[in-house]
Amino acid sequence: MKVGFIGLGIMGRPMALNILKGGFELTVWARRAESMAPLLEAGAKGAASAAEVAAGCDVVFSMVADAADVEQVALGAGGVAEGARAGLIYVDMSTIAPAAAESISARLKDKGVTMLDAPVSGGEVGAINGGLTIMVGGDADAFAKVEPLFARMGKAATLIGGPGAGQVAKACNQILTGVGVLAVAEAFNFARKSGVDAGKVREALLGGFAYSRILENHGQRMLDRNFKPGFKAWMHQKDMNIVMQEAHRLGLMLPSSAATAQLFNAMVGSGMGEEDSVAALKLLESLSGE
Ligand code: NAP
Repeated sequence: MKVGFIGLGIMGRPMALNILKGGFELTVWARRAESMAPLLEAGAKGAASAAEVAAGCDVVFSMVADAADVEQVALGAGGVAEGARAGLIYVDMSTIAPAAAESISARLKDKGVTMLDAPVSGGEVGAINGGLTIMVGGDADAFAKVEPLFARMGKAATLIGGPGAGQVAKACNQILTGVGVLAVAEAFNFARKSGVDAGKVREALLGGFAYSRILENHGQRMLDRNFKPGFKAWMHQKDMNIVMQEAHRLGLMLPSSAATAQLFNAMVGSGMGEEDSVAALKLLESLSGE
C-alpha cells in the first residue's frame, strides 16, 4: 500500500515517521521545506503538491490546522482531489468542525474520493510513541483498509459513525480536556494564593478521586512552568470555538465549555496564543494578584 502524508508539524511529523518505520512506502508534502526535511532524511519521498501526493498513493493522510486548511488541501488548487487516482482514500486527522468534515467528505465523494475524518487525542507524546487515540467517521470498508496504518499511529482507533462522527467525538474530547486544563489551573492558583505548595496538592490529589491524566501531565508542566507547545493555546481556542458553534446550532447549554472558550480567547488576546494551553495558569495568576 502506498501512503501519503500532508502537514508535518508538531503532530504530523512524528505520525508520518511512525508510518515510515512500519515499512510503508511514504510520500510527503508540506508548505515549508523545513517541515519536510526530517521526513526526507528518514527515507520518505518528497512531492511538490498535495495533488502529486494523491496521484502516487492509495491512502493519503492530512494533519493541518483548521477547516479552511483541510478544504484547501483536499479541494483547492493543487489539492488532493486534483491528483486523486481511482479508489483513493483520504484521511483527515486535523481537528475541524463536524459539519465542515461532512461537507468536504460529500464534495470529495462526487470526485470519486472516499474520506474518513479521524481526529486524534494524546498530544505530541502520543504522536511520538504511537499511542494516539483515533476517533473515526466515515465508511466502514475504508476504515478496515486504513486500520493497519492507524495501528502505526495509535493504540486505539474506533469507528464512531458516518462522516463527521469522528469530529463529534473529538469535540467531546476537547470539552473534557479544555475544562480539565482550566480546572487544574484554577486549583493550582487557589493553592498558591492560599500560601500552599501546589506541587504537594497535586501529589496528594493524584491518589484520590480527582486523579486525571490532565492533573498528572498538564499539572506537572504547570509546576515546571513549561509553557512550550505541545498544544498551542490558539489551537484549543479553535477547538472550543467549534464546540460553541455546535452548541449554538443544536441549542445546547454548555456552561463549562463557554467559560473555557472565554479563557482561551483571553489567552490569544493576551499574546499567549503560541504558548501551550497550560499557560492558562499564568493568565489566572496575573488576574489574581500576588
Ligand atoms: P502545527 O505544529 O502548527 O502543524 C500544522 C501543520 O499543518 C504545519 O506544519 C503546516 O505546514 C501545515 N498546514 C497548515 N495549514 C496548511 C495548509 N493550508 N496547507 C498545507 N499545510 C498546512 O499544529 P499541530 O499541533 O501539529 O496540530 C495539527 C492538528 O492536530 C490541528 O488540527 C490540531 O488541533 C490537532 N491536534 C493537535 C494536538 C497537539 O497536541 N498538538 C493534539 C491533538 C490534535 P507548514 O509547516 O508547511 O507551515
